[in-house]
Amino acid sequence: MKIKGVARPIDELGRIVIPKEFRKSMGVEPKDLLELSLVGNTITCKKLEKSCIICSEEGDHLEFENKIICLNCLKKLKSI
Ligand SMILES: [Zn+2]
Repeated sequence: MKIKGVARPIDELGRIVIPKEFRKSMGVEPKDLLELSLVGNTITCKKLEKSCIICSEEGDHLEFENKIICLNCLKKLKSI
């Protein structure tokens, strides 16, 4: 999907609202994490999938201090 030509103002704190159509297309919901990248003068943003910080699996997981740990890795950590 390609949507172009949407202009949004940036506020005093540097925030912008991502258009609803973009969020819907990206499957982004409140509290999801977005990864921002800057290349030249172009900013891109990508939805971060909820994958384990240790093994990168996307199965059942827990969130602790904004980090994702899968249940398998949690079980391994508990056994140490
Ligand atoms: Zn894991």
